[in-house]
Amino acid sequence: MPETMTSADLRTRNQVRLLRAVHDAAAPITRAEAARVLGIGRNTAAALVGELERARLLHEVPAEAAGRGRPTTLLVPHPEGPLAFAVDFREDTWTLASVALGGAITELEGGEHDRTPRVFADLRAAIARHATDRLAVVGLATSGPIRDGHRLHISHLGWDEVDLAGLIGPDWPVTVIDNDARLAGLAEARRGALRGMGTAMHFHIDFDIGGTLLLGGDAQRGAHNIAGEFGHMPLTGSPLECMCGARGCWSLDVGANALVRHFGARPGYGEGRELAREILRWAEDGDAEASAAVDANAAALGTGLGALANALDPQAISLSGLGVDLIRLRRDTIESHCAAGLMAFRRDEPPQILAGTVGDAGPLTGAAEIAWDAILAPDRVKALLQGA
Ligand SMILES: [Zn+2]
Repeated sequence: MPETMTSADLRTRNQVRLLRAVHDAAAPITRAEAARVLGIGRNTAAALVGELERARLLHEVPAEAAGRGRPTTLLVPHPEGPLAFAVDFREDTWTLASVALGGAITELEGGEHDRTPRVFADLRAAIARHATDRLAVVGLATSGPIRDGHRLHISHLGWDEVDLAGLIGPDWPVTVIDNDARLAGLAEARRGALRGMGTAMHFHIDFDIGGTLLLGGDAQRGAHNIAGEFGHMPLTGSPLECMCGARGCWSLDVGANALVRHFGARPGYGEGRELAREILRWAEDGDAEASAAVDANAAALGTGLGALANALDPQAISLSGLGVDLIRLRRDTIESHCAAGLMAFRRDEPPQILAGTVGDAGPLTGAAEIAWDAILAPDRVKALLQGA
């Protein structure tokens, strides 16, 4: 039997859609624009906004009069409304930020850490220093797969099955967590180069390559929240064994680890980022050995992208991290190797390969997005409206 929707449910649904429209917009929208997006009348929109204002979820300010049209109002975050915190937890540093409805990010604090789970005590203290009763949800970006939403596997730090639930404790605010590469992709889909695309892919290249498939503006997560380990597929035929336990992973050929290995340095454990940056600079200056290393990286990147495009048919593929440098230095190599790997009938319309526009803020921006997804869940919005 289909579930019946009460008029109260319908009203909550429209409140959520309205908040979502305000949050998802690239710039603040007017009440009239929100009404158009939702396909509702001006009076209905005014009533919905009034209720959201009373619940401190939304605030109206007069909009600058454009021409001689009817005066309208801009919909902005309520000054006493809920806030998300976003944490970008990396192998060597962490950043804490506060994020308002609409996605504006204010960095609060950051630091380095000792590569052990003790860092979570620092994070706990930082959150406590900045939290007010407006803090609703914390979004956390971390590297490595996160099995079942709380088991961390960060091979660069030697973390195997570190249980986040034990580290953050019951006194933490509600926390949602996801993998940094997936969140960087989500950020591009919601706020960056992949905005508005139905099927797209994003890859973040740091020590190795991580990515995500984006469908309708959301990231594919899989049955155990560990989908998207594209870097651990044998796409380029490496004979080496990977730190993940598999052999021949694409990640062995793309990213900082591959660059430093090319120079005889031992890759792994989250070290070598500086050397990799230097290799890119040497290549730019025309050094033959560095150029060969960068060529090999770009070729392997393109080959893997072609294979994945055959499987998943993305409209566009964006890159962040070292991927942006590889596009700048070796776009032709990436594209020609991608094309060579494409099935012939696809070559007339290869996926666009784009530099991401959210940049280094991708994981933090994505963490903010999943935190706001949790705040804007219908049940939570309903509870906030009922409490008003
Ligand atoms: Zn692997």
